[in-house]
Amino acid sequence: MLDRTVTDWQALAGELQFEGRAFINGRYVDALSGQTRATVNPANGAELTEVALCGTEDADLAVKDARAVFEKGTWSRMAPMDRKMVLVRWAELIEKHADEIALLETLDVGKPISDTTHVDVPATVRTIRWSGEAIDKVYDEIPPTPADTLALVQRLPLGVVTAIVPWNFPLSTTAWKLAPSLATGNSVVLKPASNTPLSALYIAGLASEAGLPDGVLQVLPGPGGSLGRHLAMHMDIDGLTFTGSTPVGKQLMEYSGQSNLKRTFLELGGKSPNIVFADSNLEKAAAMAAVAVFYNGGQTCTAGTRLIVEEKIHDRFLEMVTGNARNWMPGNPLDPATAMGPMIDAGQFNTVSEYVGIGQGEGADLVFGGKRMLEETGGYYHQPSIFGGVHNAMRIAQEEIFGPVLSVIPFKTAEEAVAIANDSIFGLAGAVWSNNINTAHKVAEAVRVGTMGINNYFGGDITVPFGGFKQSGNGRDKSIHAFHDYTELKTTWIEFE
Ligand code: NAP
Repeated sequence: MLDRTVTDWQALAGELQFEGRAFINGRYVDALSGQTRATVNPANGAELTEVALCGTEDADLAVKDARAVFEKGTWSRMAPMDRKMVLVRWAELIEKHADEIALLETLDVGKPISDTTHVDVPATVRTIRWSGEAIDKVYDEIPPTPADTLALVQRLPLGVVTAIVPWNFPLSTTAWKLAPSLATGNSVVLKPASNTPLSALYIAGLASEAGLPDGVLQVLPGPGGSLGRHLAMHMDIDGLTFTGSTPVGKQLMEYSGQSNLKRTFLELGGKSPNIVFADSNLEKAAAMAAVAVFYNGGQTCTAGTRLIVEEKIHDRFLEMVTGNARNWMPGNPLDPATAMGPMIDAGQFNTVSEYVGIGQGEGADLVFGGKRMLEETGGYYHQPSIFGGVHNAMRIAQEEIFGPVLSVIPFKTAEEAVAIANDSIFGLAGAVWSNNINTAHKVAEAVRVGTMGINNYFGGDITVPFGGFKQSGNGRDKSIHAFHDYTELKTTWIEFE
């Protein structure tokens, strides 16, 4: 795998079989209406395959069967050690098919093949394996109650959960949802993003092969506005887990309130601060500042889009980051040397272009990039772009662009850096770079975000919780804490005679 060239990957892509049907009750099926929608390769705009366009009638059927299997207990009451074995086998099957799945993800999302092979697929395998292995090691509670009484505090599965996921990390966000929700015994109805349904459909078949009972995992591709809304409003769904934009997250909370108050956990947008002090390792900080914002073409919820730099090194550091930006020129995602692929579609590209115009209109200084590239391919490739002279009140510093656009903002004191970092509706992630242990810790503690790096960006693994403060969400993916989003606490109080 490591030695494959762009030609090898192209040849493999030619042989790949695409499965675009929904996955319901352990079988691939067409939408009841027979309708389909094309999914395209963002690298060149070519159709990959037709995908089932599921509607409310498919959803009702899938929920009914997911409920029936939940009530029957085939999975929900299976011994945790047996559920573990199914999830571990599933992880092994994904690992066995790693190259095909990575290629599928690259073709459907436009992600560089070096990322899908080294990040997305391994993270998916680790997440499913870890949650499976953890589930028979989690104990419930016996609280310290008075004599002649005994209380049991148990965590029970919610029932039927729906998971709605975005297009920027389709495979890994799917795994972040499915692994803990299935491990805790729920039935799950997954709605992938319309742009990127293929990897979720592929791994659903492998779950069945691993022994997941029919109906426990249903995958319904279809539009968010109709199918997604119907699931979120469904009276027979007990939990909703979502990763996506803040505006849609707010709608989902309303849907929950308007329907049955289903437990609703949201992982939403961000505008993450990356704070650099003059006393840090500037070479490393500059290289990572570029990674933080340009990785995945900036289509990353945790992207470090606000680079907050100590004033005395501002000009020098801006030059260093600009130097690093040259390594992020986009290219063919199937080439293992490519670091950044295209934007997901024309809509996302236009949003990015508009924000470049907005930044210029606000008086910020476009010091690098700002243009479309490789137009002849049919893909929407955008140059890595950097704005200097940014004030945190500008729209380019406040609004999530979701593209490769960096805003560089100067500060004089640590207090000012923290104030700028916290002046945001978001609170997802961030980082601080300093070799002074006091500065680093104090700033890290004061920035109101769910994940903060000290002298690193994008740090973390499956052992730590991930989620947002403020309008970046309310749930937690990953780690044992993710199990809490998919379970209810139940108390049984016993009195002895
Ligand atoms: P999005 O537009 O919010 O869509 C996310 C999912 O919601 C898609 O499956 C979409 O379906 C569905 N959807 C849309 N409208 C809906 C509605 N009214 N009811 C129910 N479902 C609906 O987000 P996106 O553009 O795919 O993803 C980018 C966003 O996700 C960014 O804001 C990013 O920051 C955020 N994100 C957050 C995290 C995190 O962990 N915090 C991680 C990754 C991404 P369609 O595809 O059919 O529209």
